Amino acid sequence: MPAADRPSPPAHDERAVQAHASKTPRYRVTAVNVGNMRVDASEMSYGRDFGCKVDIPVWCAAIEGNGKRIIVDTGISDPQWVSRLMCPSWQLPEETIDGALNVLGWTRNSVDIVINSHLHHDHCANNSAFPQAEFFVNLAEWEYSQSPIAPQRVLYNESWLAHPLGLFDYTLVKDDHHDVLPGLRLIRTPGHTPGHQSLLVNTDEGVLCVSGDAVNTRSSLAEGVPCGLLWSTAHGIESVERIRALADRILMCHDGEIRPFQESGFPLTTAVSDVETGTTPDDTEAQHG
Ligand SMILES: [Zn+2]
Repeated sequence: MPAADRPSPPAHDERAVQAHASKTPRYRVTAVNVGNMRVDASEMSYGRDFGCKVDIPVWCAAIEGNGKRIIVDTGISDPQWVSRLMCPSWQLPEETIDGALNVLGWTRNSVDIVINSHLHHDHCANNSAFPQAEFFVNLAEWEYSQSPIAPQRVLYNESWLAHPLGLFDYTLVKDDHHDVLPGLRLIRTPGHTPGHQSLLVNTDEGVLCVSGDAVNTRSSLAEGVPCGLLWSTAHGIESVERIRALADRILMCHDGEIRPFQESGFPLTTAVSDVETGTTPDDTEAQHG
């Protein structure tokens, strides 16, 4: 299609321009893999791909800006424990929490803030590696972790949240749209768990959502389908739509197409409308630049 005949850029691009022009601090986000698991693909996408095994990374987000270092989700700490109780799990040397910090040039004591999207084992098992940090967990998630629904009990282990940390190291977020810092906003995205939260980050490429397990794969994002392990399907579907409405780009915790230590070019959240109009995500990426 000739450039002159193309429709006007979507609202997502307008938000990106606003992010560039805003005085709000901008942050650099690096995808850091802290562990791997082999799971049934239906766990990644509700009602899809039963019986297919897939190897998935565990992406944490290392965020730097405004004079602060922030980590969203802290990954797997003990692959043997995961392998014994749940599914095959492994880590390369650079995929342990210390190995990953070393590649980043960070130390355990240089991290100011840790945000947990939720408290499943692969999102908080290295919390105790950061004794200097302030932690942000949604209050509903904190309470749910004390007595989760039966299918999710194995996913919670309170030892990850304990020594050398204590209750008062955790800020329990009650509000939706909670600003951790200017340009870092927590929004509620329940479904996978009742207290699941995602982080909106102001970046050079617009608003990036670090979405935890609210949605796990690019095809799921395109179809508006949440992950396959759910506390509430209806809430999960609403949360995917919410992220698409509020963010330009997305870093999903188990996205198999992200590169280790990737810092830009995270997938656009516009994928579903492009699917509906018959273009491919690659066309969209080129068109949006
Ligand atoms: Zn989870």
